[in-house]
Amino acid sequence: MDYRFAEIVDIPSLQRLMENLWRASGIPVGIIDPDGTVLVATGWQPICTEFHRRHPEALKRCQESDAYIGGCIERGEGPEEGGYVEYLCRNGLVDVAVPILIDGRHLANLFLGQFLYATPEEEYFRTQARRYGFAEEAYLEALRAVPIFTREKVREILDFYASFVHLLSRLGSEGLQRRRAEEAQRESVEKFHLLFSAVSDAILLYDAETLDIAEANEAAALLYGYDRAAFSGLNVADIAADPVATRTRIREALARPVTRIPLSHHRRRDGSVFPVEISHGTLEWKGRQMCVGVVRDISERQQAMRMKDEMLSAVSHEIRTPLTAILGFAEYLRDQEVEPGQAREYLDIIAREGERLKELTDNLLDLQRLRAGFGTENFQPVPVPPLLSSVVHLYSQTSPCHRLHLDCPPELPPLWGDERQLRRALQNLLANAIKYSPAGGDVRLGARQEGAFLTLWVKDDGIGIPAEAQEQIFENFFRLNHRDGQKIGGTGLGLALVKAVVQVHRGQVWVESAVGAGSRFLLSLPVLAGA
Ligand code: ADP
Repeated sequence: MDYRFAEIVDIPSLQRLMENLWRASGIPVGIIDPDGTVLVATGWQPICTEFHRRHPEALKRCQESDAYIGGCIERGEGPEEGGYVEYLCRNGLVDVAVPILIDGRHLANLFLGQFLYATPEEEYFRTQARRYGFAEEAYLEALRAVPIFTREKVREILDFYASFVHLLSRLGSEGLQRRRAEEAQRESVEKFHLLFSAVSDAILLYDAETLDIAEANEAAALLYGYDRAAFSGLNVADIAADPVATRTRIREALARPVTRIPLSHHRRRDGSVFPVEISHGTLEWKGRQMCVGVVRDISERQQAMRMKDEMLSAVSHEIRTPLTAILGFAEYLRDQEVEPGQAREYLDIIAREGERLKELTDNLLDLQRLRAGFGTENFQPVPVPPLLSSVVHLYSQTSPCHRLHLDCPPELPPLWGDERQLRRALQNLLANAIKYSPAGGDVRLGARQEGAFLTLWVKDDGIGIPAEAQEQIFENFFRLNHRDGQKIGGTGLGLALVKAVVQVHRGQVWVESAVGAGSRFLLSLPVLAGA
């Protein structure tokens, strides 16, 4: 960043110092920055202030003179550092300017002047007075007040001012370095604050001895439910679910520079406890040993792990049941003499259980594919009525206590999608409708057009779904423990797959249900554009 002279040097102090110098020496001095702003001025002559700088034309000449030195330096004709430029100002007085360079940059000029080397020719100034319309006598009186110095005197003065400017440059350079350091520090503090407040993990800084929290970021305030300012007044014991265990863990962690605490439990302001993973580090701050804890809420991760475990045991169970049947009947057929009619019945069971296994693995594989972003490669126009009737047909023989109905007008525009995926989604819904209405009843599969969408539904008179679970049932591996404790097998994958299929078709799926009053699953899917 570029600074101006006035931002680096204390101008009022400089003004006082220069005034004292002027009183002692009688030599007028000024400091002017390169764009002409007068920063310090002492002993300026009335001939300048009262006359020349008050007349527009004469003022222009003064400014040209002020700018002369800047021009010299810009053109590379400036004096050496500590040197000076002497010139006759265009209004007839002598000016000497010493450029002030700070760290090689020309930031100001020290002007010595105005003065004269010899008694002025009054006639020249009388002409000037008439030209500008100055009161002649008063103008000449101001001229007579301009000091007259010999060249030796000026050189002496300049020697003094050269070292003065040198000192100013040094002071300025130090000032500049200080400003730059301050600026760098401010930037780094700003950066730190940005980082501290932008990270999504909670960060806590606390005293290793007292465990008093000294700093907490915005994420910590949000996570624990405290106001950020109030947070800094808490102790780690206020947020740990088990303060004694936490204290012990921190003691152990102090021995190492960074420790990962994979699982601990913390408490929110409202008293609720949640699992966290902590990265724990130590540092020195203001002469005290401090700890920094980066805290991550792992509730979701734990929930996902729990669900995966549940899914694994559900999948194993789901695989085991048909496999046991398949193996049992196959071995029986191999080892025993079985009548042809009986053998056919057993083979039917083997085929059905095999089909169940295939369905389960297909669901798993399809879900994985859809989640990985595949699924639109086989899109084509899908006529809906034949699709629905084939699904109904497939399930019509599976359960003697269920009556399946199809409620679908013959003329419906086709969908744009993957027929195999849509069939699997509808099969999952129909299988659930049968499975979750163990007492039997009607199961309806229907479709109707609603503008640019087709709504498909599967309705049963089964056990129903409580309102609070109606969103969760579409999550991966989510299974509901139905209140009446009915043991109905499943993997929690069927509806997750339905949802993934609907999403890849840019549609929506939801359920209308009440416990004991049956359920209706609805899919809204866009029809083929232009159909
Ligand atoms: P699964 O049936 O293998 O458990 P799903 O993903 O198909 O998995 O269903 C998730 C949960 O939603 C089921 O465990 C069940 O509790 C509930 N559910 C699904 N369909 C129905 C329905 N038609 N009636 C009642 N509950 C249902």
